[in-house]
Amino acid sequence: PGCRVAVLSAVPGLGDQLVGQPVSGRLSGRLFTIMSASPALLMRLVASGFSIAEKAQAIVQQVMSGGDLGVVEKTGANDLQTKADRLVQLSICSSLARKFPKLTIIGEEDLPFQHVDEDLIESGQSEEVLKYSCPPQYSHIKEDEIVVWVDPLDGTKEYTEGLLDHVTVLIGFAYAGKAIAGVINQPYYNYQAGAGAVLGRTIWGVLNLGVFGIQLKEAPEGKHIITTTRSHSSKLVNDCICAMKADEVIRVGGAGNKVIQLIEGKASAYVFASPGCKKWDTCAPEAILHAVSGKLTDIHGNPFQYHKDVKHMNSAGVLATLKNFDYYASRVPDSVKTALVP
Ligand code: AMP
Ligand code: MG
Ligand code: MG
Repeated sequence: PGCRVAVLSAVPGLGDQLVGQPVSGRLSGRLFTIMSASPALLMRLVASGFSIAEKAQAIVQQVMSGGDLGVVEKTGANDLQTKADRLVQLSICSSLARKFPKLTIIGEEDLPFQHVDEDLIESGQSEEVLKYSCPPQYSHIKEDEIVVWVDPLDGTKEYTEGLLDHVTVLIGFAYAGKAIAGVINQPYYNYQAGAGAVLGRTIWGVLNLGVFGIQLKEAPEGKHIITTTRSHSSKLVNDCICAMKADEVIRVGGAGNKVIQLIEGKASAYVFASPGCKKWDTCAPEAILHAVSGKLTDIHGNPFQYHKDVKHMNSAGVLATLKNFDYYASRVPDSVKTALVP
């Protein structure tokens, strides 16, 4: 009883049905467990995404310590690209494409990634992630059904200004238009914690499974602490926050960073009543927030879509909370709603 046998090859056709899930049953009165031959695709993707995000952390740190950020303005002074954005984009996209050639990968930076330096390729996969079974509803997903949204460096403006803990690397996985899994690396987590503290962390999550690499903490009860943009503010952004009767407003860079603040209880709502944020900014953070029962939508409360042909711009802003979403959604002024068309 309880013996574990790997017999997939002896049972033709069974392997396809068992992807990622151990199955128990009785054979001649004896209890048996069949382990799957290979973890489900989604778990392998997240496991690879984890290792690729750790490599990204090293690249982001190396570029900063090298001293030459190679800053380029994209649409203007508040829309920057550095050498780290470029190298990490190439690293993430080419590493994923090499291992999973049928994926649709959409990255922020417009760079071809077919022939990149071998030094940028990461082929490892996190064994820690692979210890977890895929939620059954995602265990049959095929490679060509996944869209990966990549923000190689979120919070670039802050990176160039030395606000290093605002920076994150975002890899989001979408299936059937929905953000279902994500990896967030924070390359400078702990950078002010003093000697001995481990620098950087990788957070990952899958819907219906959970979030790992971060300790969930709720924001103080009864206080409205709003986190919002630091470098892309506007009258609309401030009007919206004002209407929410904030006890405290935190202005920091990065969509990834702000969602981390929600999960760690440093803020109760992320409010951004402006266009500017894109699907690669929200996919991974949304999946991770939803995996701990939070909610991230546009400013009207509409869910985002992440299929490959969707418009990149989140024209109707972002509203996200771990708890009490309805309080914030109900206080968005009509003038803001009218100005922000999805
Ligand atoms: P922020 O909260 O200002 O750091 O913005 C979150 C993400 O949205 C970052 O990746 C920003 O680059 C992007 N973003 C927001 N507003 C704008 C904008 N007006 N122009 C370009 N990017 C923006
Ligand atoms: Mg970004
Ligand atoms: Mg970016």
